Amino acid sequence: MSNSDGQVLSVDEIHALVVDVLASNGCDAENASAIADTVASAERDGCLSHGLFRVPGYVKSLRCGAVDGKARPTLTRPAPSVLRADVNLGFSPLALAMTRPELIEVARRQGIAALALVRGHHFAALWPETEALAEAGLAAMAFTASRAAVAPAGARRRFFGTNPMAFAFPRGDRPPLVFDQASAAMARGEIQIAARDGHTVPPGMGIDLDGEPTTDPKAILDGAQLPFGGYKGSAIALMVELLAAGLIGEAFGYEAHENANPASGVQQSGELIIAMDPACFGDAAGWLVHTEAFFARLTALDGVRLPADRRRRTREVTLREGVRVAPALFAEIRGLL
Ligand code: NDP
Repeated sequence: MSNSDGQVLSVDEIHALVVDVLASNGCDAENASAIADTVASAERDGCLSHGLFRVPGYVKSLRCGAVDGKARPTLTRPAPSVLRADVNLGFSPLALAMTRPELIEVARRQGIAALALVRGHHFAALWPETEALAEAGLAAMAFTASRAAVAPAGARRRFFGTNPMAFAFPRGDRPPLVFDQASAAMARGEIQIAARDGHTVPPGMGIDLDGEPTTDPKAILDGAQLPFGGYKGSAIALMVELLAAGLIGEAFGYEAHENANPASGVQQSGELIIAMDPACFGDAAGWLVHTEAFFARLTALDGVRLPADRRRRTREVTLREGVRVAPALFAEIRGLL
């Protein structure tokens, strides 16, 4: 259905459209489907900055040869609880999907397992990786370092990536608790959307090239974003750099910035995922009852909602009614076929 407000597509139709676009631009079927999973789930959950909006970027990086759309990961095991996936300069979603079963298996066997993903390209939200692990009964954390975009607390120029981290905790028969947040005050995708649509952004999101505060998204994209919460968010960004770059031998934000492909602007990046089996930490019989009592007390407080509640509410609606895609974005994506 189409009208002046846009095209309404089912989540499956979005998936099929993304597969077609990627397949006609150099992805094989497995990579196209894995990327389409992340794009369609972002649209389904109302995370527009990591949905169809990203597809032109995927295509640009394929067309200029910066990313191998047919890559397969190479999995090694440097230590009993540590898996390492070399994405071989492909996109990360297929490597994540292919390595997840072994990560789950090792976490259940050892109690804790980590996956270091290197030499990949990650343009997506992080919650899908932690949510999938929590749905398998594991507590999970994920970190990815990205190209320099954020000024550390006190600095007047970019150095850290927007460096998101996600966390998920299993809740038995209930959907898991999941949060996923950039360490920048605002996701870069949101600032790009504001720039595209000609809106300002709230104060405190960024500074211009001279280091002066601004609400102009274009000036922030040229200058630097700011971390959330001042020096506290800056410390989280610092931690993400060390875990998703220093620890696993991948590029820090400033290195990714300096080494970005000149034609497409894309850069490879690392990701660290940690999975923990609550049954292996000494309270196998009681942890679920204990944590559910915690959630019951927490959600009884006035004004509290759990992270991921908004996403899940949006998901219920979009699965029933479809997703309305803005006409210009729909036309742009169809034009990539
Ligand atoms: P938001 O600030 O929108 O949300 C952060 C988290 O807070 C979400 O889990 C959200 O849950 C939760 N939340 C929001 N409001 C409330 C509330 N009132 N009470 C309780 N919880 C709340 O996300 P960001 O803008 O920081 O992150 C945007 C995305 O960008 C992330 O998905 C991140 O992974 C991605 N990203 C990816 C990068 C990459 O290199 N691949 C780089 C940088 C960012 P809910 O969703 O339910 O609202």
